[in-house]
Amino acid sequence: MIKAVYPGSFDPVTYGHLDIIKRASKVVDEVIVAILKNNSKNPLFTLEERVHMLEDTTEEFPNVKIQTFDGLTVDFARSVEAKVMIRGLRAVSDFESEMQIAQTNHSLDPDIDTMFFTTSLEYAFLSSTIVREVASYGSDVSNMVPAAVEKMLRKKYAR
Ligand code: ADP
Repeated sequence: MIKAVYPGSFDPVTYGHLDIIKRASKVVDEVIVAILKNNSKNPLFTLEERVHMLEDTTEEFPNVKIQTFDGLTVDFARSVEAKVMIRGLRAVSDFESEMQIAQTNHSLDPDIDTMFFTTSLEYAFLSSTIVREVASYGSDVSNMVPAAVEKMLRKKYAR
């Protein structure tokens, strides 16, 4: 049984993340989407909001679970007995930092390996930062995030 952790900020979750979650859920037995609690990035959405939007948008995948964590990702993976980390690669620019993270994690715990999924072309440009930027000007993000997330973004920026 292969259990995998897909860590990230998910601020907010995008179609790019969901594409990775869906594809990973077909390859491994269980995917734990792990939302980082202690985010120095000062997130737009609270942890509870991010949990809610991920639960809502991954409902259709029975082997996907949502959890939160702080501290090192390898410690979280160990605590849930997962030996695989899932990460997405959008462009060459992601490669350097992702390789560094994967090698650090592997040196911290040699039992843990990282599995990379290359992004589907239609989502290659997508990031949570881009979504927040576009939504903050009141522009349409319906091709970037699910309707429920779009609604939450609209509420945030209406204030
Ligand atoms: P972090 O703050 O850890 O980078 P993110 O929520 O931004 O967290 O991303 C989590 C993971 O999802 C990362 O591996 C990132 O490369 C991947 N990811 C983000 N956007 C996309 C996308 N559009 N397509 C594929 N993977 C993506």
